[in-house]
Amino acid sequence: MSKHQPLCPKPGHHVQLADYDPSYKGEYPDKDSARDQLKSNRDRLRELQEVLWAEGKHALLIILQAMDAGGKDGTIRHVMSGVNPQGVQVTSFKVPTPEDLAHDFLWRIHQHTPPRGSIGIFNRSHYEDVLVVRVENLVPPEVWKVRYDHINNFERLLADSGVTILKFFLHISKNEQKERFAARLNEPDKNWKFSRGDLKVREKWDQYMAAYEDALTRCNTGYAPWHIVPANRKWYRNLVISNTIIETLESLDMQYPAPEPDLDQIVIPD
Ligand code: AMP
Ligand code: MG
Repeated sequence: MSKHQPLCPKPGHHVQLADYDPSYKGEYPDKDSARDQLKSNRDRLRELQEVLWAEGKHALLIILQAMDAGGKDGTIRHVMSGVNPQGVQVTSFKVPTPEDLAHDFLWRIHQHTPPRGSIGIFNRSHYEDVLVVRVENLVPPEVWKVRYDHINNFERLLADSGVTILKFFLHISKNEQKERFAARLNEPDKNWKFSRGDLKVREKWDQYMAAYEDALTRCNTGYAPWHIVPANRKWYRNLVISNTIIETLESLDMQYPAPEPDLDQIVIPD
């Protein structure tokens, strides 16, 4: 395992998840050492979201994918805790409805992409259509195999339309998933999160990893890059994701709109 683990595989690089340590924590010895940074990130993200909203030029789409108990919900809760709810839309993609299935696979997705000025968060996404759909044989191979190209074209359309796309794969180990499932069974307040069906998916762990590797390899583009986030430690996961969102928003070089002229001449009537 390399000392500095890359967050983003290069476009074209064949991803093998065994090369990425889910317990990696960079320079940080422990959670305490990251506390101040996490707090200042929360404040910085609030400022950046405000100018994103005020400027109204760009949209940010954050796509979260992970195995069950990978931390998608926890990421949204922690990383977005400081931002103004008015400027964020979270969409959780579940099993498609009959109406969804009567359309192309991107139809239900496109309706939820963020408008300019907003942050959209996808809790699962169109990637399920090359993950669960592939592993569970929900459609024949000739149907899912062409979807990687459709996804790249769709993401290109969004990028060309002012949407900045960040895709995060929250990478946990199989053993970490076992521990998180055990906590869901043992702690009454977490029982509701447990579903027997999750164990069926767990049985196919290796097939899911292979499907993820293909998605991370084939849909990793300059305009919509994948980030492989070491996610066994929740605090490190939150740190990496908030750092990435902040860097990305800062790179957009956003500005508040110019004020109306001569504001200093204005007298507010009684
Ligand atoms: P959860 O995220 O735990 O609420 O579960 C949502 C479920 O919906 C997961 O089991 C996903 O695999 C499933 N799901 C999401 N998108 C699709 C899709 N396109 N086709 C089939 N199942 C899906
Ligand atoms: Mg679930």
